[in-house]
Amino acid sequence: MKIIDIKIHVLKSPLAEPFAFSQGWVRQRSATLVEVLTEEGITGWGEAFAQGLEPPEIAAAAVQYALKPLILGANALDTEVLWHKMYHATRDFGRKGSVIAAISAVDIALWDIAGKTHHVPIHVLLGGAFRHRVQPYATGFYRVNGQGESARLADEAIRHLDAGFTAMKVKLGYGVEDDIQCMKAIAEAVEGRGITLMVDTNHAYGRAQALRLGRALDGYNLRWYEEPVVPEDLHGYAEMRNKLTMPIAGGENEHTLFGYRDLFAANAVDIAQPDLCSCGGISAARHIVTLAQAHGVAVNPHVWGSAVAQAASLQLIAALPVAHHSLFAQEPLLEYDCSSHPFRQHLITQPIQQSGGWVPIPEGPGLGIEIDRSIVERYRVAG
Ligand code: CA
Repeated sequence: MKIIDIKIHVLKSPLAEPFAFSQGWVRQRSATLVEVLTEEGITGWGEAFAQGLEPPEIAAAAVQYALKPLILGANALDTEVLWHKMYHATRDFGRKGSVIAAISAVDIALWDIAGKTHHVPIHVLLGGAFRHRVQPYATGFYRVNGQGESARLADEAIRHLDAGFTAMKVKLGYGVEDDIQCMKAIAEAVEGRGITLMVDTNHAYGRAQALRLGRALDGYNLRWYEEPVVPEDLHGYAEMRNKLTMPIAGGENEHTLFGYRDLFAANAVDIAQPDLCSCGGISAARHIVTLAQAHGVAVNPHVWGSAVAQAASLQLIAALPVAHHSLFAQEPLLEYDCSSHPFRQHLITQPIQQSGGWVPIPEGPGLGIEIDRSIVERYRVAG
């Protein structure tokens, strides 16, 4: 299965209404898609993570100049071998961030090819499906004005409830007092409806404020408190874990088994959240899942990308063992971002959508999706 070409597609779309998370205003959605072509005619797709403020051209350049020359002519089925080859060749200027996102994109495409070659979905190659459907949680509650939007956010909670979501993650980190007010309004809006709530501050605070917020939210029975402090402050994470009652989650800004080793060694998290398009792809996610299991840490992937990212995450989630086995063990959830994304759903012929509170795992070969090339061309700006 000889690799004969790698095409890079940078997609962008400005947003009609910009929105804010705690780190800034998101004015466009973008994606770095990678298409790996083989001599036999099988094509694999992958995606590099581009968070709202990240130029997608960085990962695109890493694929073009650092990775493509390395793997042209190689056997696409050598997923683990090629992962190490890409990691070793970029170690001195990579290890974190967009370079690992670039490796992630190529790796996901190679797994897509492997699945298509063997006529099975990726989760079969990963050892089989623990589950064939997953409960999505709505990620939302971004701001469109700034502070003081509690009434609008309470209405948003009702919209997610009416759409069938049974779990919701609230974006916080806009000032502790404002956060507390918004959480109160949202919790009251869904009270008695059996909704699971989580919060995510995107590392907006230092330890003292993060603790104050956590203590104020103690009564909401949160499934987790995500990125309470900056990803570099592993001791701060451990302090949150020791002083607060709710589980602490993080990892979307961590990469590879080496980064996660440090996170686990510091007792930083109850729940690890690798992003498939940023942690090093499916190969790296496998390493991280094994490492997490050895440390008694649950894994719940972070998802914010396009349909390719969603599909890759679903394949991993299918094959993800629960961290703490019991008759009524807590199952992983699918992060289902509800913020504006003009091309995410349209990028594939059968969009990934929740229905009645569940999302089915795609059962087709590889990622289990078909790319709509007209959408790629429509939003493509470079590559
Ligand atoms: Ca997050």
